[in-house]
Amino acid sequence: MPLIVQKYGGTSVGSVERIQAVAQRVCKTVKAGNSVVVVVSAMGKTTDGLVKLAYEISTNPNSREMDMLLSTGEQVTIALVSMALQELGQPAISLTGAQVGIVTEAAHTRARILHIETERVKRHLNQNKVIVVAGFQGITRTEELEITTLGRGGSDTSAVALAAALRADFCEIYTDVPGILTTDPRLVPEAQLIDEITSDEMLELASLGAKVLHPRAVEIARNYGVPLVVRSSWTDDPGTWVISPTPRPRSLVNLEIARPVDDVEFDTDQAKVSMLRVPDKPGVAARLFGEIATQDVDVDLIIQSIHEGNTNDIAFTVRAPILKRAEAVAAAIAPVLRSHKAAETEEAEVMIQQNVAKVSIAGAGMIGRPGVAAKMFATLAEAGVNIKMISTSEVKVSCVIDNADCDRAVAALHTAFEVGEVGADKSPPSSPSSPSSASSPSSPVRGVALDMNQARLAIRQVPDRPGTAAKLFGLLAEHNISVDMIIQSQRCHVINGVPRRDIAFTVARMDAQAAQQMLQQAAAEYGWGEVVLNSAIAKVSVVGAGMVGQPGIAATMFEALAHHQINIQMIATSEIKISCVVAQEEGVKALQAIHTAFGLAGSHSIQVPA
Ligand code: ADP
Ligand code: ASP
Ligand code: MG
Repeated sequence: MPLIVQKYGGTSVGSVERIQAVAQRVCKTVKAGNSVVVVVSAMGKTTDGLVKLAYEISTNPNSREMDMLLSTGEQVTIALVSMALQELGQPAISLTGAQVGIVTEAAHTRARILHIETERVKRHLNQNKVIVVAGFQGITRTEELEITTLGRGGSDTSAVALAAALRADFCEIYTDVPGILTTDPRLVPEAQLIDEITSDEMLELASLGAKVLHPRAVEIARNYGVPLVVRSSWTDDPGTWVISPTPRPRSLVNLEIARPVDDVEFDTDQAKVSMLRVPDKPGVAARLFGEIATQDVDVDLIIQSIHEGNTNDIAFTVRAPILKRAEAVAAAIAPVLRSHKAAETEEAEVMIQQNVAKVSIAGAGMIGRPGVAAKMFATLAEAGVNIKMISTSEVKVSCVIDNADCDRAVAALHTAFEVGEVGADKSPPSSPSSPSSASSPSSPVRGVALDMNQARLAIRQVPDRPGTAAKLFGLLAEHNISVDMIIQSQRCHVINGVPRRDIAFTVARMDAQAAQQMLQQAAAEYGWGEVVLNSAIAKVSVVGAGMVGQPGIAATMFEALAHHQINIQMIATSEIKISCVVAQEEGVKALQAIHTAFGLAGSHSIQVPA
């Protein structure tokens, strides 16, 4: 008999009527000949309410007690859903995470799942019962059997992990929107439904702010090949399928913590173009990449670090054979950009670096684990490899290095991450792998996301030598602070004989102050410059596997921002995403402008139920 795991989110179980509707749907699924495990969230905004209560008692509530408190929300729902099923004549039993045996790490409020016992669930399934499981919670295997929670939004993760452990036929996530949309319909009502999305694309979207799926749920679906669909609780419409590649066989022990890195990749045929001292004002990136797109030059990574004075540096990589064309465009445009800032004496300058290589580590398990990137930097430092450019995404960290260092770097990374066979030289780039029947095959951009919960940190004048990134991001990792969008400035200042650059990156806003304090101490100790914090930022990103090998995507995004006079503070890209940091108050406007620019807006509005 097919086994389906169905997860219902907070809004879907927000009232007695909605719980009864959920019970009806579950009964229908059983009558259609399926075994069903149901995973539920707390009702409506219960968890928010509990958090608020805690902060009324304490400004810094104890995390163990926080888990004790927050885990109660889901416990209410499982009992009520189970009762509603029984009222319909459907045998059902509710189980907490502990009663199932969802074993997690001891890390309160952000525990990862280690293992799920399936014996009790299977026994009840054999008795033809529906099992109703509390999402978001687990139990430690220590003597004390402590209750843990997985982090906000974690019920999705409970559901997909259960589906993996039970080898369910698929996992359905029921929520308050028709499925995964091109962006958040609360901000852009013209968002359109996506029929299918790859797990790589969804991982990026989820971690860049699309709340509809917890990124760790996507990670598990990808690692274990769990078929996953997001659907509306209110209709029978098909929703959105998340498509994963056939996974390598993987143990169910240490489910969320085994092997964060699957692959080491490299590309030895790259060149880097930097434009130094371009004006810090709207329209500059648009102009540069617009011209580059016109010349049909496909750029790979793009970075723009934080401004220095009133100018910026923008750097990008291209494949070596088209360097000449890219260089010509950059050289032609430099004087045009310079003329924008008549009063300045400094000149924009184009710098070319040939013979560079890109090495990357890839794997879904690095999400929220800052130690993984830090370990990559430390490994390169130990191998004496200097990093010229860093680009991060949720599932990949890439470093641009000297070609001559590439073999050494790749070998060291293989050993450090215990990746078996030698990874592929990714040149020439793999062809776009977008799902066939997606709703907007014409757009290389699948979705647009906005993250308003980030802050930007920059450290001025950090020595440019092997080991610096390792030290800096190692420190952050020790404090469990996850970092995104790491950017080194291209401009180099020699101070006391030591070449120095700025490094900027974004972190979750709630970690920002702690990170700043910690880095200020480190800066004093290691002789780094000022540590600058800006919390009033928004990060807007476009994601799509179809942008690989397709010139002009960055240009369209930058032009949309320029058209609305929105200044870009930072740019970072990976193969399948482009992120820009803009001022916080311009975040929503930026999201709307970009969504429209890629032709993603539909003809009718999506209504999100209250
Ligand atoms: P649940 O309680 O069911 O887990 P969530 O509130 O966690 O629901 O997630 C659903 C919400 O995610 C939607 O109401 C929508 O506002 C938001 N969202 C953000 N980005 C997207 C997107 N790309 N597609 C669909 N929904 C999105
Ligand atoms: N109730 C938890 C939260 O609000 C978990 C979830 O809904 O996924 O974060
Ligand atoms: Mg959710």
